[in-house]
Amino acid sequence: MELKRLDTEDLEIILGTLKEFAEREMPLEKRLEWDKEDHCPEDLVRSMLGPDVGLHLLFIPEECGGMGGGAYDVYRLSTEFARIDLGVATSMLAVALGTDPIRVGCTPEQQQKWMGRIAEEGLVVAYGVTEPEAGSNLENLKTTADRITDDSGRVTHYKLNGVKQFISNGGIADLYTFLVNAPDGPTFFVVERGVEGLSVGTEAVKNGIRLSNTTQVILEDVVIPAENIVGAKEGEGIKQSNEVFGFTRLMVAAFGLGGGLAGLERAIAFSRERVAFGTLLREKQGYTHKLLVPNSVRLAAARAYIEYVADLLDSTEEDRQVEGSVAKLLATEYGDRAAEDAIQALGGYGYCTEYEVEKIKRDTRILTIYEGTSEIQQNIIGVFRIRQNVRSKGAFYNNMADEVAGLEHVGGKAVARAARFLSDASVLAFKKKLIRQQHAIFEMAWAMAETELAVALCRAAAKSDDEVLQAQSRIWAAEVALGVPSRLLKLYSSSGILDEAEMKDMIEKADLNGAIALQAGGVADMDLVAKAITAD
Ligand SMILES: Cc1cc2nc3c(=O)[nH]c(=O)nc-3n(C[C@H](O)[C@H](O)[C@H](O)COP(=O)(O)OP(=O)(O)OC[C@H]3O[C@@H](n4cnc5c(N)ncnc54)[C@H](O)[C@@H]3O)c2cc1C
Repeated sequence: MELKRLDTEDLEIILGTLKEFAEREMPLEKRLEWDKEDHCPEDLVRSMLGPDVGLHLLFIPEECGGMGGGAYDVYRLSTEFARIDLGVATSMLAVALGTDPIRVGCTPEQQQKWMGRIAEEGLVVAYGVTEPEAGSNLENLKTTADRITDDSGRVTHYKLNGVKQFISNGGIADLYTFLVNAPDGPTFFVVERGVEGLSVGTEAVKNGIRLSNTTQVILEDVVIPAENIVGAKEGEGIKQSNEVFGFTRLMVAAFGLGGGLAGLERAIAFSRERVAFGTLLREKQGYTHKLLVPNSVRLAAARAYIEYVADLLDSTEEDRQVEGSVAKLLATEYGDRAAEDAIQALGGYGYCTEYEVEKIKRDTRILTIYEGTSEIQQNIIGVFRIRQNVRSKGAFYNNMADEVAGLEHVGGKAVARAARFLSDASVLAFKKKLIRQQHAIFEMAWAMAETELAVALCRAAAKSDDEVLQAQSRIWAAEVALGVPSRLLKLYSSSGILDEAEMKDMIEKADLNGAIALQAGGVADMDLVAKAITAD
């Protein structure tokens, strides 16, 4: 399998460049100051895209002057950036998002023109999709693009009108890609800053990622040439934005991983130094097994899944929208949880700004909202995966079970049980029309995502001889073995869709006694992980 990605050496150079740049330009004191002032350091964003650093080049194909990085490279850069600061990382995300419609939708000539300029001039790009009345629901777009024709009836220009909401880099961008309703449907247009009629509206005052710039952008009779339509054809916008979701959601998933690691690492460092009741916090089992170990396990599962999806994206041409949703849903939820627990782990210090974890938590909070909320991801995962599993007559999840069942030393047997039960439960949900209830779709989606992460972690742990990763995999497998059937039994029982005999049959199939037996050894595994992650 040939993977489209950079050489390890080149990737390490880029990660090293980011590290040096961050140490030099954005030390902690500065970041805390900008956060307090709610200030986006525009010069810093520009130097990140300037000739000496050029992080954006990773997203741009080689033929357009970039480095042509793959999904794996983007995941690594995004994770490391999120560990430093999610606000500035969001500026970079906006450049990548704004460039994406051009990358997937433009004609080769347009790509050379626009991406060539973004690469060479280091343009700050913004992605303008959301509107005041259209966030999750893009069918409600109100912005319009009216055709302007010459005497022969040829369309020469478009006139754009409307308001875009919550646009990252909105107030500092040189170039925008806007999704606007044209006569033949939603269409991406490339618009340059400075064009008459484009103005920057109110800047959002935000809870977190305060180092990023988020504004309304107002379009009032903005006239742009017809050649600025992405792909030179109206009505392709929704298709183009769907095409990049596998990729962009993986990037936000990596932000979840990086943000969560930033919180967890600070909590671990604190536990190595803080003494309470005569011993270090790291020696208190209740503390480590509540605030550190579960987060290290969830983030290990998220990382394994992200790497699995990056491999898929780098080795095939498919868009992988559902896998992008699974990664985004749980990596961002787990990252946010790890940041939340980091505040608790630092006690009163965690609540005070100078220890940074309260900022990390405010920053990670956005991740379950932008690039498609967690609820939108649950909807996508539930609808598509139930369909996929039903069409395959249950083979979709049963095959996963078969694959990991033999990997007993990393919890494969426990994961296989969950996957098989999930397969049966989702087929039954279809037969019994339970899927007409959105709550059922959401609950199933969560169980599916947790199971898929467990499969990925089993695979990764089985390939490795790292005993900490293997213990993390067993802990997660045990969690899923009990958690998935419990969640689904509760769903079925509370929905009242099964009669007594059917419900009894389902409870028997779930075999919770068996799942409880598989919890054996869990505390010893948690002890092992706690000791390893808090070691000096
Ligand atoms: C800091 C920040 C930066 C952003 N950057 C950008 C950017 O650069 N470009 C851009 O285009 N947009 C950007 N956004 C917008 C962001 O993507 C949207 O806010 C997000 O998609 C949610 O849309 P909404 O705010 O309209 O909320 P809504 O869509 O109104 O959602 C409100 C709530 O309802 C839930 N909900 C919605 N539909 C359903 C459903 N069918 N079933 C169940 N629940 C549902 C949602 O999950 C959410 O909990 C940004 C937002 C923020 C806050």
